[in-house]
Amino acid sequence: MPSMEAPPQAAAQDRDSDYKLMKKAVDEAYRAVDSGDGGPFGAVIVRDGAVLVSCHNLVLKNTDPSAHAEVTAIRQACKRLGKLDLSDCEIYSSCEPCAMCLGLICASKIKKVVYGAKAEAAVAAGFDASVPDAFVEYYRKSGIEIRQVEGEAARIAEKVFEKAWEIPDEAMRRRRGGEWFEKAKGMVKCSRFCCLWN
Ligand SMILES: [Zn+2]
Repeated sequence: MPSMEAPPQAAAQDRDSDYKLMKKAVDEAYRAVDSGDGGPFGAVIVRDGAVLVSCHNLVLKNTDPSAHAEVTAIRQACKRLGKLDLSDCEIYSSCEPCAMCLGLICASKIKKVVYGAKAEAAVAAGFDASVPDAFVEYYRKSGIEIRQVEGEAARIAEKVFEKAWEIPDEAMRRRRGGEWFEKAKGMVKCSRFCCLWN
């Protein structure tokens, strides 16, 4: 019986490539904290099978709450290519992109997003990284492939949040109050609320 699935060899190559790219994004996540630049998040943009840019979170370094790894990577990639359209690129993110980053990924026309850790892992570690399912579904329906890596690649990405990090978002928690934070945590699993960023 003919099968629609990719031959095992191709699937193994994909897994291999996923692992290498995710490892790079995860290394960036550790570098962000080691350098004091920001939270443990990294992103890599790939074009024609080669790494175009490799970036990490710079919110502390730049005193810029928008300097997430994905944002930094997209800015650098556009600058390097001298164009706004990244439809020929893919992005590998150490953690599931937040709503802001998904919006920018859509604006830059990137068509494929591969992430390591689920947002829940970051939120459980105290980071403000929640992304309602409705956002992800919205962008999937807009034609963007969004998927989590499998196996060992996912494990090394989730391991990032097993460490007790000093949380850059602690200030945010203080400003918005604990009640807001608890609500935000609950929203990760609840797609009915979309007003978090209002
Ligand atoms: Zn983000």
